[in-house]
Formats: sequence, C-alpha cells, structure tokens
Amino acid sequence: MEDTYARPIDYLRLSVTDRCNYRCQYCMPAEGITKLAHSDLLTLEEMAEVVAAAASLGIRKVRITGGEPLVRLGLPSLVAAISHTKGIEEVAMTTNGSLLSAFAEELKAAGLDRVNISLDTLQPEKFARMTRLGTLSDVFDGIRAAFAAGLTPLKLNVVLLGGVNDEEIPALAELSRRYPLEVRFIELMPMLGASGFGREAYLPCRTVLDRLPALLPDKESGVAQLYRFPDGVGRVGLISPLSHHFCSRCNKLRLTADGHLKPCLHSQEEISVRGLHGDDLIAALQTAITHKPREHGALSWTEPSEAGRRMNEIGG
Ligand code: SAM
Ligand code: SF4
Repeated sequence: MEDTYARPIDYLRLSVTDRCNYRCQYCMPAEGITKLAHSDLLTLEEMAEVVAAAASLGIRKVRITGGEPLVRLGLPSLVAAISHTKGIEEVAMTTNGSLLSAFAEELKAAGLDRVNISLDTLQPEKFARMTRLGTLSDVFDGIRAAFAAGLTPLKLNVVLLGGVNDEEIPALAELSRRYPLEVRFIELMPMLGASGFGREAYLPCRTVLDRLPALLPDKESGVAQLYRFPDGVGRVGLISPLSHHFCSRCNKLRLTADGHLKPCLHSQEEISVRGLHGDDLIAALQTAITHKPREHGALSWTEPSEAGRRMNEIGG
C-alpha cells in the first residue's frame, strides 16, 4: 500500500518487548524501566495476527526488535508464524547479540533470514560501561553463531558517539575489510534516553569518511549509503538520520510491544491495535499508513525527537 505521498510501505518493525538485559547509555536509564507490565504486551499470537493483516496490505519485510527481542519467551514460535505468513518475503532481527549463541540455530530453522547485531566498541571495559550490564565476549559469540547458522548477510550496527567510540572508527570499519559483513555507522538520535549526551557526542556520519579516505562509494541500500575498502570483502554503511533526512524514502511502519502503530518514529501519534481483529485491524493499519507525515521535524542535540517514548519501547 502507498501512503499519502506515494511512498510504498512494505516494511514493518515489530518491537516484541520493551525489556532488555542491557542498559545502553543512549537508550535506557540505569535503573531500567518499569512501565509495561506483562499484561500490557501484545501476545505473540496477537503480533502474528497484526503481521498477517499488514502483509495483506503489502508489508513484505518484518524486522523483529525491542528492547532485546531474545528476552521475550517463545520468540522462535513467533518467527515461525511470521515466516509462514503469506506475502512475507523476509524476516530479520535486530539484537544486541548477547543471547544469540543459544538461539541462532533454532531461529534460522524457524525461518529467520538474517540479523543486525549492535556493537559500538571493540574494547571490553568500554563495552561494559556503555551497556552498563554487557560482556563483550558474549556478543562475539553471538556473531560467530550468526555466521555458523547462516543468519546472513550480517550487519553490525555502530552508534557513533563523539568522545566515546570515534577513535575506534578505523578498527570497527576494518571488520568489513576482513569479513563478509556490513559495518553500519549510525548517527546518535536525540531520543528520550539520549538526553545525557552533549553536542560533542553528535557526530555526523561524514566523520567516518574523513577518518577513512580509502573508502570508495558503493551503492545506496535502503537508508544506508554504502562504501567499501578497495580490498574489502564487506561494506561500510552510513546511516545519517540527523545530517541527511531520509523521509522521502521512508517505507516503514512500527508496532510497539504494547500494541501501538507508529506512523513515524519521531512523532507522538500512535494508533492502537489492541483488541482489534479482521476488518478493524486492517482499518487501523490503513490509518497508520495514511497518517505517515511527509517528514519529521528537525533533529539535533538541541532539538529532541518528538517520539514521546524511549528507543527500547519503539525498537529503533
Ligand atoms: N536491543 C537490540 C539492539 O540493541 O540491537 C534491539 C533494539 S535497539 C533499540 C535497536 C537499535 O537502536 C540498536 O542498534 C541501537 O544501537 C539503536 N539505538 C538505540 N538508541 C539509539 C539512539 N539514541 N540513537 C541511535 N540509535 C539508537
Ligand atoms: Fe537494550 Fe538495544 Fe536499548 Fe541497548 S540499544 S539498552 S541492547 S534495547
């Protein structure tokens, strides 16, 4: 289905939980969150029903996210239901990777095509500080497990944080020279959870090109501009929500774990699907698609997102 601005909407980001075993400094408060009770969450069956309705309107790709999707019990059964849904061509997941070594094979067998794994630093102590609860070696185990299970092409999501991980840009990008994966640098977004960061943290993606003059332009892929090293087997992707809006190419709808469709990541507008079935559910999805704004407001370290929720609730 097309939205009001003739953009085909074929991609659903599905947040399966707001909970997480990490507390990344730019996403969640140190003490965690207490907002959603288990009874507030959609059941996995309800999520599968929303996906089926969305597929009937032209959604072709689903990305499972969170919170940390792998802390939601029964996730492989949801993956299986989505991958068997008529019209769905790709099921992907964004994860912090910490629990992936235990689930990679099962998820692949259930129909998961590929994963994006978040990895902002290669230094164990810094990783523990940035995630507050994480252990870097768990994520490396998850990356190995993803390759072994064939959850590829694999992408690593790196949020650029000036003064925190910018000196690691060469080391992180180097992974794409040596391994068949995409290292995606993402500009920090001024979400609720990122309010502790000052101007210096908000690095534009062109910093990556300044630091790595050897990178050659490749192609554009979705929201990422791709580059590669002349002798690299993988790619470097730049995702610039602040310095280059990509609203004109937006193809997404988002569903929060408590059952609210978000027409735009950076808007407070939400449309509830709780308790809706059949034609009512389809109508809610159509409303969300037609309510997608042409573009969102300015974002900068002084102009916060109007999302009204933290990233762990929306799913990024
Ligand atoms: N827990 C999973 C993970 O970390 O991959 C999935 C959910 S997380 C909210 C999805 C993505 O959003 C991650 O790649 C994370 O780094 C990114 N993210 C979270 N807060 C962000 C922010 N303020 N700016 C930019 N990216 C952010
Ligand atoms: Fe958890 Fe992902 Fe948010 Fe980090 S970015 S706190 S891993 S949801």
